[in-house]
Amino acid sequence: MSIHAILQTVFGYQAFRGPQLDIIQHVVSGGDALVLMPTGGGKSLCYQIPAIARQQAGQGITVVISPLIALMHDQVGALHEAGVSAAFLNSTLSMQETSQTERRMLQGEITLLYAAPERVTTPRFLEQLDILQSRGLLSLFAIDEAHCVSQWGHDFRPEYRALTVLHERFGQVPRIALTATADALTRADIIERLQLQEARLFISSFDRPNIRYTIVEKREASQQLLRFIRDEHMGDAGVVYCQSRKKVEETAELLCDNGIAALPYHAGLDSRVRQANQDQFLRSEGIVMVATIAFGMGIDKPDVRFVAHLDMPKNIEGYYQETGRAGRDGEAADAWMCYGLQDVVNQRRMIDESPAEEAFKQGLRGKLEALLGLAEATDCRRVRLLSYFGEASQPCGNCDNCLQTPDVWDATDAARKLLSTIYRVQAMSGFGFGAGHIIDILRGKVTDKVTQRGHGSLSTFGIGADLSEAQWRAVLRQLLAIDAVAVDAQAFNTLALTEASRAVLKGAVPLRLRVSQLSAAQRKSRRSAVPGAAAAKKSVHLALDMPAQARLAALKAWRFEVAREHNLPAFVIFHDATLSAIAESAPQSLDALQGISGIGSRKLQAYGEAVLAVVSDCLASADNP
Ligand code: ADP
Ligand code: ZN
Repeated sequence: MSIHAILQTVFGYQAFRGPQLDIIQHVVSGGDALVLMPTGGGKSLCYQIPAIARQQAGQGITVVISPLIALMHDQVGALHEAGVSAAFLNSTLSMQETSQTERRMLQGEITLLYAAPERVTTPRFLEQLDILQSRGLLSLFAIDEAHCVSQWGHDFRPEYRALTVLHERFGQVPRIALTATADALTRADIIERLQLQEARLFISSFDRPNIRYTIVEKREASQQLLRFIRDEHMGDAGVVYCQSRKKVEETAELLCDNGIAALPYHAGLDSRVRQANQDQFLRSEGIVMVATIAFGMGIDKPDVRFVAHLDMPKNIEGYYQETGRAGRDGEAADAWMCYGLQDVVNQRRMIDESPAEEAFKQGLRGKLEALLGLAEATDCRRVRLLSYFGEASQPCGNCDNCLQTPDVWDATDAARKLLSTIYRVQAMSGFGFGAGHIIDILRGKVTDKVTQRGHGSLSTFGIGADLSEAQWRAVLRQLLAIDAVAVDAQAFNTLALTEASRAVLKGAVPLRLRVSQLSAAQRKSRRSAVPGAAAAKKSVHLALDMPAQARLAALKAWRFEVAREHNLPAFVIFHDATLSAIAESAPQSLDALQGISGIGSRKLQAYGEAVLAVVSDCLASADNP
């Protein structure tokens, strides 16, 4: 079969997306490739189609290296549903299942074999690969989540380092490495660590136009989150990221208390509970997963409608990867983050206190600053995000700053007052103080500490009474973002001046800050005034008329049963978009059904008649109500 025929008959898709065709052609013909594509861009087909094409050409099996044991079952299940021979080898299999799979593998009967890196690099597995190679049945290595090899990525897995053995021992076998992490540092590291210097590099646009970015100032984070979900995402599947396990638990409880179906996920939970929660998130509709960053890699649920950050991530790569889990199906989705001064201080402290070398810490600080810059930005968030990944773009019309230009004020003078207070306090007392005290001095508050330390006599005492505490915190965040203030984690988070402070003190660095954010309700009413924005927000489901909605509901009920019988997530059977298209066009023959995106020949054969029956039942009951 040609690769187009595989796309259409196996996967049921009409056309390749973006660079998929180039990548697939290159890999089918035996080239090495490094693929950088955003989450949801369609990386899987880039190795699955070559695997099928090369197997059909008698070249044997493709070994897929994936760090995600917990998801292998569903990944392989999805391929089975499409009629592709696939299997996995991991610790969840019994001895008997393992040896059976190994036997099939050695015969070259499997098209895609999934295994974790620690398995792939065992002597036993490598010997099996030797046998396969001697039989001419080792076709391709696909290294998924390739950024795991780099300590600059956010999911560093030391086991990935050992994968160089593939290149050294099986130099003739082509390799394709894939990742959604694209900053220059990580990319260079992947190339070096996996020895992909000769591989062709495929970089897609990292834009995810259907995701709307919003970053708000933290006031009462959990109330803000509740409001966000209630106003915009009741009943939707979503992910909420928190920094600590405790906060995960608290937040999940709060959401549940407020009628939102939420589950916790963090590394401290028993692995069975974790797996059960993940399964429920994947298999049921409308669950909100409250999680630490331990959750999400490889989660390919297509209909996640929002990703919320209750705490700030470490860097833009992490933020982008996590937010990228929203809206894989291409429908409108939200990336919402709430952040405050404490986030900045915490992140700085974690870096300062880590045992790493200074040069490495400096790299981490630079990455944190870039994220702060994004959070404090008053211009298009997407332009900033994309430019971080080396892509130029125009204001997007689908982020908070584009939808509503923030009012800005000139904080240049305020910044000078703040820095000079830090300086004077230090000069007077011989050591520094934290943000709260510095702001009290600026605002002229006579606290016990002010009295004890005699700071009421400073010339800057009370010179900032015209600004609120929140405004002062915003000034301070901005100064942290441009590194004009340092937080000394070793000394109770005291503030200190830096190299960059001088230019600000001189008034040579203009600072423009957003005034303050509108409430969610105001934002919403402004939103609908933006052409296109309201339409972009509307999901397919709402576009359906009443009878079609009834068909969709019936189809979903049918899908739920099938998915349960097969012990797979519902989207593996059919995506929502596919069901919506069926509901809308109400096909009455297999021919009519066949043209719908997402229905390959295997699924048509397996489910076609059942789907037609659901549709015709609905049509009949609509005629005879
Ligand atoms: P990634 O691994 O890059 O995050 P996936 O491979 O999971 O993305 O693909 C994202 C979604 O897009 C999946 O639901 C997949 O079925 C779908 N998809 C991929 N390629 C195409 C295509 N050419 N046409 C239609 N849908 C596609
Ligand atoms: Zn924008």
